[in-house]
Amino acid sequence: MSERKHVIILGGGITGLAAAFYVQKYANETGKQVTFTLLEGSERLGGKIDTIREDGYVLERGPDSYLARKTVMTDLIHDVGLADELVSNETGQAYILHNMKLHPIPEGAVMGIPTKVMPFAFTPLFSLAGKARAGYDLVLPKRSDADRDISVGHFFRRRLGDQVVDRLIEPLLSGIYAGRIDRLSLQSTFPQFIETEKKYRSLILGMKKSQPQKQKSLKPQKKKGAFLTLKGGLSSFIEALSKALPEDSIKTGVKVQDVVRLEDGTYSAQMEDGSSVIGDHVIVTTPYGITKKIFDESLFPVGFHDTKPTSVATVAMSFNEEDVNFSLDGTGFVIAKSEKTSITACTWTSRKWPHTTPKGSVVLRCYVGRAEDQDIVHETDEVILEKVLDDLKRIMGVDARPKFYHVSRMIDSMPQYEVGHKEHVKKLRTTFNEKLPGVKLAGAPYDGVGLPDCVNSARMAVESLLTR
Ligand code: FAD
Repeated sequence: MSERKHVIILGGGITGLAAAFYVQKYANETGKQVTFTLLEGSERLGGKIDTIREDGYVLERGPDSYLARKTVMTDLIHDVGLADELVSNETGQAYILHNMKLHPIPEGAVMGIPTKVMPFAFTPLFSLAGKARAGYDLVLPKRSDADRDISVGHFFRRRLGDQVVDRLIEPLLSGIYAGRIDRLSLQSTFPQFIETEKKYRSLILGMKKSQPQKQKSLKPQKKKGAFLTLKGGLSSFIEALSKALPEDSIKTGVKVQDVVRLEDGTYSAQMEDGSSVIGDHVIVTTPYGITKKIFDESLFPVGFHDTKPTSVATVAMSFNEEDVNFSLDGTGFVIAKSEKTSITACTWTSRKWPHTTPKGSVVLRCYVGRAEDQDIVHETDEVILEKVLDDLKRIMGVDARPKFYHVSRMIDSMPQYEVGHKEHVKKLRTTFNEKLPGVKLAGAPYDGVGLPDCVNSARMAVESLLTR
């Protein structure tokens, strides 16, 4: 008879649930007796994923989609039988607010890096000097110490100058990390640019060369969106994942406060209510601040995640179509830090994701809260709404009240990947391997904050525990 193994999974966000799925998949495929218990502190599964579904609307409080090229997530969606529910975004012009006016992001700008001369030369976003400084990238030598981690800001400022960074790259990238670009680790967030610089020296030339060539085709083809989501919202993925798992293996409303190693090498997870679960392995997917409290403080490297995760809030508003007299075509805009607005970005949700909104309505979703100023997130719903409506009036000329709105706060929700992140993760994992073999750390604090990164992190944790 094969040996029994039990895995305890802490946290029931996407990472925890994906880990549970992979444990079960491993057991089914190998016939080995591996079981799991997932312990979730709140009454609800999904963590940051939280969809509101009402009156034909599908509105996300947290993430709304994921990068399609990271296929591990799509594979898992297929595994849980939701492939037919996948939907990609409508593409369209994106804008950037500069001097309180919306400007199209110059055509050919990839993550803010110009790859086409004319749109960049003619955009009013940058001064002549700013454009000339960006062109310096074409002759600037590559870094001699390319493998030393530096900040994203440092890297791009050196190659393209401050203007392109402050007015284009920073607003685009900080939407993903809600962090300070001059502290964000290049190695851990955008390692592809290190490779581009190594290979092509110039970012502009490198990005130009690495863009897929347009296929010549007789019929003009519709551009496919780079993001995917599910018609019923991302919570439908959480529901399908949990349905695929044995009900009695998932416990909600149980806060883990301690994990101790027993004399026989197994682990006991102890809950706030006094109950406990014993297992051979533990996969930890709780937010870093909580994880640090659950385990001995001395295991965690000094200085790692010292900057608190950023808090953000989103406001989803539904308007009558006729009330939103807005002529620009496109999918939304981002805002540079220098602008005096409360909102940091706005997605024209009903255009980008038409399935989310009943006909006759327009849904706008605005983000508030920056790394350097998060006070607004803690204001009342009414105060946040008024500030957002004031901004929308000034930016888009929207002078109507929404039919309804939802303010969603995500407190301390965006882990900050600062310079040295990768080294810290390595050190932390080495310490855990030595002191607590059988305990694996996975999820947003370590291997990327995107949903596919979290799924991949769960898969790696299960693989390293069960198959190596
Ligand atoms: P979490 O979702 O935080 O799950 C951790 C779980 O642990 C929670 O359920 C929590 O209740 C539980 N827990 C906490 N304490 C305990 C305890 N003591 N005992 C037991 N359980 C506990 N990513 C994208 O790819 N695309 C996007 O569009 C996108 N947009 C985002 C928008 C916002 C506003 C935010 C905040 C994030 C966004 N992200 C996006 C990032 C992504 O949503 C997260 O990185 C990801 O959901 C994190 O998943 P996780 O399972 O690692 O952590």
